[in-house]
Amino acid sequence: MHESMMTPELVEFQNSFKKWVENELVPHHEKWEAQGITPRELYTKAGEQGFLCLTAPEEYGGMGLDFRYASVVIEELGYALTSGAAFFLHSDVIAPYLYHYGNEEQKKKWIPGLVSGELISAIAMTEPGTGSDLQGIATKAELKGDHWVLNGAKTFISNGHISNWVIVVARTEVPGSENSKFAPLSLFVVEEGMEGFERGRNLSKMGLKAQDTAELSFTNCKVPKENLLGEVGKGFLYLTNELAAERLTVAIWSLATAKRCLDLTVEYTKGRKAFGRSISDFQNTRYKLAEMATEISLGEAFVDRCINGMVEEKDMIVEASKAKYWCSEMLGRVADDCVQLFGGYGYMNEYPIAKAYVDARVQRIYAGTTEIMKEIISRDLLK
Ligand SMILES: Cc1cc2nc3c(=O)[nH]c(=O)nc-3n(C[C@H](O)[C@H](O)[C@H](O)COP(=O)(O)OP(=O)(O)OC[C@H]3O[C@@H](n4cnc5c(N)ncnc54)[C@H](O)[C@@H]3O)c2cc1C
Repeated sequence: MHESMMTPELVEFQNSFKKWVENELVPHHEKWEAQGITPRELYTKAGEQGFLCLTAPEEYGGMGLDFRYASVVIEELGYALTSGAAFFLHSDVIAPYLYHYGNEEQKKKWIPGLVSGELISAIAMTEPGTGSDLQGIATKAELKGDHWVLNGAKTFISNGHISNWVIVVARTEVPGSENSKFAPLSLFVVEEGMEGFERGRNLSKMGLKAQDTAELSFTNCKVPKENLLGEVGKGFLYLTNELAAERLTVAIWSLATAKRCLDLTVEYTKGRKAFGRSISDFQNTRYKLAEMATEISLGEAFVDRCINGMVEEKDMIVEASKAKYWCSEMLGRVADDCVQLFGGYGYMNEYPIAKAYVDARVQRIYAGTTEIMKEIISRDLLK
């Protein structure tokens, strides 16, 4: 966020979180990348310090802070290149489903655990046969007496292995649903240990190496009736509303990572010499740096507007799509130009810019691809 958005309280919070990231995440991140997963204790440690689910309502053990605080966390993680700690997925993408659609009993039962980090969350929408097209979800849930029976498979699920609390999107063909304009989807909380719930491979990825990404399967998985989140058949509507926050988190992360790429590159090009001069003395370098700094400032102005929109609880579906599309594409351009200015060193894994480059690529894909963002934006224009 631009300094004009920062209050003394936010700065204080930012400083304490930054210090925590430097001490608790940065020194261990490489080890977690090699392991392909972060330890579960990371969440309880973060929870102890009050860094999870900052916007959770106070009556359920949260702090009831606004989205600016959540944004500080996302920014610091993005800037530190600690993509393994997917706290914002847990805190700002998944937990809000519970705040917005959970009943009293569910909120009391689960929000405290999400805040403390004892419950680590995941959300499973994507399937081997469908990703962008959520209406094509095939995982099925059928009501049998006092429980639902889930059958189907999910893939690419972030936190798929470390999570013990998963929101699963499934098709619920109940009487009347055939007349619905949207696919009759519903959301179910599937908990670790439920019969018929299995985790598959931790998928090998080109980047985000410390973040586990899993396949999940449900075979006659018995889910108690009480674990249905919200109303039957309203899942598509809930997803549409909540995906705005998810897209904004990607925009914020992308912007912060772009800033880090630029800072690393300014430093490097000042020190590296060629033809008797610093690389930063070449006009091409200076212009590239100027272009990147300008794009980042422009992105920041728009993202700050979106953050304020979230704080004011405005409908952010279209604005968040614009932010996600533009910032993730901008990060792609910035990371690519920065690697170029590092020369061969930019291609070496021991240089953080190389990690930033590979981690950047997925920002244009997950939480809705660039093409889907353009669909949402153009549909709004042409409605
Ligand atoms: C690292 C990682 C983590 C992820 N984490 C999660 C998670 O936690 N939970 C979860 O549910 N999912 C997760 N995903 C899945 C992710 O959201 C999907 O991969 C993404 O939405 C794209 O779906 P797809 O892969 O099926 O691609 P497809 O939908 O098959 O798309 C392939 C290509 O076709 C294009 N395309 C599709 N439809 C259209 C259209 N209408 N117009 C124009 N172009 C179109 C797409 O833009 C893309 O370029 C994750 C993915 C990755 C890579």
